[in-house]
Amino acid sequence: MGYMAYKRALDILNIKDQPQSDTAKVIKKDITFDSGEFYEKMEVIRKKTEGRLRLEYPNSKIEVTIPSKERDLATQKEYEKSGASATTISLHNFGAAADFKIVIDGENQDVKGPNWKEELLPFRILGSEARNLGMFWGWGGDAGHVADTRFVHQFLRKYPEQIDQDFLKDWYTFQSDTTQAGYKNVLSVLDSAYKQEHDRVWLGDDVTIDPLLEDWPAGSNKKVFGYIK
Ligand SMILES: [Zn+2]
Repeated sequence: MGYMAYKRALDILNIKDQPQSDTAKVIKKDITFDSGEFYEKMEVIRKKTEGRLRLEYPNSKIEVTIPSKERDLATQKEYEKSGASATTISLHNFGAAADFKIVIDGENQDVKGPNWKEELLPFRILGSEARNLGMFWGWGGDAGHVADTRFVHQFLRKYPEQIDQDFLKDWYTFQSDTTQAGYKNVLSVLDSAYKQEHDRVWLGDDVTIDPLLEDWPAGSNKKVFGYIK
C-alpha cells in the first residue's frame, strides 16, 4: 500500500498518523485484506461442509465445489445484466466472495428451484460452517454465496486500504451523475475517501435489510426451515 493510500486509510478510521509508533504498524496490519487467505478459508468451509453432508446423507454421493470466486468488473456487469447479480460492484470483485455449488447424487441443489425450501438444508449446513469462521452467509435468494462481509461498504470500512484499488476507482467514475440508490452506502465511503462531492440522481430503492437465512449448526436434529432477523 502506498503512503497516500495509507493516509486515507487512517483518515477513514479517524486515526492520527503516528509512523514512529507501534500502534500505526498494528493498524496497518489489521486493515490488510488477503484474498489468498480468504480462499484458503473457503476451502476449509468446503471440506467441512462436505464432511457434514456425508453424515446427513450417509448413502449419497456428495460434491461441494466453488465454481465462482473472484470476478472482474466486466463479468460482474454481465451478471448484473442477466439478473444473476443485483449489483455492478460486488465482494467477488475484491476476491472476497465465493459461490458454492452442492450436488447430491448427481443432482444440483438449486435453491431457486421449485423445492428450494427442502433443498436449502445443505446450504444451511454450509452457512453454519461459514459463520463458524466469521464469514457472512444467509441471503435468501443466494444461499450458495459466502463473503467476508455482507455489503461492500462494510468491507471497505473493515479494510480501508481496498479503496485504492484501480477497478474500484474505475467503477466510481461511472457513478458521478445518475446511479442506483442501493449504492448510497458504498458511494458515501468512497466520496469521503476520494475527497469528492457529487450531486447525484438516485434511481430505484435504497438497500433493504432483508432477514437472513437461518444456518444449521452441527448437532441440530430437527429439519426446520426458517429465517432469523
Ligand atoms: Zn456470490
